[in-house]
Amino acid sequence: MTARVIDGVKLAAKIREDVAHRAAHLTAAGMKPGLAVILVGSDPASQVYVKNKVAACEKAGLHSVLEQYPSDMTQESLLERVRALNVDPAIHGILVQLPLPPHIDSHRVIEAIAAQKDVDGFHISNAGLLMTGKPLFRPCTPYGVMKMLEAEQVPIRGAVAVVIGASNIVGKPMAMLLQSAGATVTICNSKTKDLGWHTRHADIVVVATGKPKMIDASMVKAGAIVIDVGINRNAEGKLCGDVDFESVKTVAGAITPVPGGVGPMTIAMLLVNTVEAAERAQQR
Ligand code: NDP
Repeated sequence: MTARVIDGVKLAAKIREDVAHRAAHLTAAGMKPGLAVILVGSDPASQVYVKNKVAACEKAGLHSVLEQYPSDMTQESLLERVRALNVDPAIHGILVQLPLPPHIDSHRVIEAIAAQKDVDGFHISNAGLLMTGKPLFRPCTPYGVMKMLEAEQVPIRGAVAVVIGASNIVGKPMAMLLQSAGATVTICNSKTKDLGWHTRHADIVVVATGKPKMIDASMVKAGAIVIDVGINRNAEGKLCGDVDFESVKTVAGAITPVPGGVGPMTIAMLLVNTVEAAERAQQR
């Protein structure tokens, strides 16, 4: 068996096209959707991520602002910038790129973002809304995974899903979205005993650990859907996921590649969340 490869680049392009139409409609009505991205410090991976996010906004006709600050920026100055953006009518979404330098308390900064502009969906009130099944913003990466499953017409209701990784930004919201859609969900972490026992029972496996190639064919049920969120660099410096793609594609029903899988979807869903924020602002 060779798995169907789920093309995240193609699906993301389709979603971005839809975003561009919605943005044009809003702009014509005098409400051009705007995203502010704040980067503190000079982490090379973060610099690439924020540039890609801003470029995607511009391509889809959104207004975007990139604010870059040195790594010694004080927490108070950062909070002041967030408060100013909270009341800026041209800005509908605010994203503070993580990780922040160690002297800044990320939780305090995220909590300072107005919940209606928290397009990453990390604010505690947005996490609570997601948990109670009434999300305002779905965190972009898990939201992108749900869109991929939907596009592939993967049955979720009644499915057994295993999410490996329990972070606040990927694993936990992923599990919430799958369970809201009717899956029976297990969340695994680094202390999970016999991980393969869990994954071999799963119809859907989502891997988000940051551990290259930790899932191989022996851990996957024939025909399962395998979604690889991980972004790692191998010994040759090439991008790779948390799943051993070559091995797992021989048993899975469908699989996402790295690169070209979940990554492009994350950016597309950030644009969706920003447009949704502007549409809500228009209705207020
Ligand atoms: P974190 O480091 O915050 O969390 C990793 C999680 O994986 C933790 O819950 C950890 O368990 C668990 N874990 C680690 N090792 C194992 C193991 N051997 N077995 C089972 N569970 C394990 O990472 P993130 O959630 O932020 O990111 C995960 C990956 O996804 C990274 O590669 C990151 O780069 C990528 N990513 C990709 C995105 C995209 O757009 N494609 C977006 C965001 C992230 P414990 O809780 O016990 O520590």
